[in-house]
Amino acid sequence: MGNFKPADQIQDLQNFGEFGGVNPSITDSSTFTFLKAKTMIGVFDGEIDGCYLYSRHWNPTNIYLSQALAEMENTESALVTASGMAAISSTLLQICQSGDEIVSSRTIYGGSYALLKNFLPKFGITTKFVNTTDISQVEKAINKNTKLIYCETMSNPMLEITNIRTLSALAKANNCKLVVDNTFSPLIFSPAELGADIVIHSLTKFINGMSDCVAGAICASKEFTDALYDVNNGSAMLLGPVLDSLRSASIHKNLKTLHIRMKQHGQNALYLSKKLEADGYRILYPGLESHPQNELMKSMGNKNFGSGGLFVIDLKEKEMANHFMELMQEANIGYLAVSLGSYKTLFSAPGGSTSSEIPEEERMEMGLTDGLVRISIGLDDDIERTYLKMKKCLKKVHTQV
Ligand code: PLP
Repeated sequence: MGNFKPADQIQDLQNFGEFGGVNPSITDSSTFTFLKAKTMIGVFDGEIDGCYLYSRHWNPTNIYLSQALAEMENTESALVTASGMAAISSTLLQICQSGDEIVSSRTIYGGSYALLKNFLPKFGITTKFVNTTDISQVEKAINKNTKLIYCETMSNPMLEITNIRTLSALAKANNCKLVVDNTFSPLIFSPAELGADIVIHSLTKFINGMSDCVAGAICASKEFTDALYDVNNGSAMLLGPVLDSLRSASIHKNLKTLHIRMKQHGQNALYLSKKLEADGYRILYPGLESHPQNELMKSMGNKNFGSGGLFVIDLKEKEMANHFMELMQEANIGYLAVSLGSYKTLFSAPGGSTSSEIPEEERMEMGLTDGLVRISIGLDDDIERTYLKMKKCLKKVHTQV
């Protein structure tokens, strides 16, 4: 377990609003005035720093949220984007150019997989997919064209844990950047503390936690975030995935309660995983001793934030999985919906939804079968009550299908 305290770092930030408000004021402006024409020219020439110019570039509200996220990940800087995918695509396009290669984990979010596999080759950027829990596979895939290694700390949907320390040493030895998507495990893991160069989040999930908006973030060195916002050459500036400041302010407020929510999500997921495993179901959950990276989970995680709010139950057949999800929705355990990290339980069968971009053959190879149900457990107060409802649904699945 690490000793880094990301929740305290967030809580220690003090941002007063105008007129002494306890929350920072929201900047409701797309553009900013200059008192002197010369200053504007200096900003465009990159000679003057620290001025607000135009909200696609920077605005004070996005800076407040970015600073809080940089504190959380202990990076020098951060910037926020309009989605997690915008954070990923801006990062990859900033680092790579035609002829470059990426080595990526094979178990990643389906959208990220499709970006790497189908979209980036249009720009001459190709990807080799490997099992990043087996470091020798990563080592073999690296060559002189490899620019970066990409993985998720806790992968979507298989919940595999990648050893960031080992991967970072390998990246450094080969002069590559290590880019880590930490969406499933904010506060639980601190990839930059473990050696990652760039940490990405979909804020849409746990960090915002309310299922009311889509947003993303890139936590990195100041040199990298400055490069992303370079007016002449920055992917974030030129592709334009800016987050609206009203949304930014509401995500910032929700971030302040993230530590309490992550603990509750983790306790609930652990309780259900243990009970359902004892009932004889195959459960994937990094907090269970049966999980192949359970020891790594314990040694790499920060203290007191648990093992995450997601677990996977294997119902073997697609029909069983579908029926179980419909019954859970009827019983008001949660919603049959994609996404995760919400106050309310959300579930989906990743094979036919969020991982459908991955070809069937590759899904089968990594064990991502059609009977899997991914459950993002909500903030239920009485989790035993939820378990009893789930058990009833499972009983019906076995008698009705
Ligand atoms: N990264 C992971 C691990 C995800 O699960 C997702 C979405 O599900 C994303 C990135 C993309 O985030 P967004 O939907 O905010 O673009």
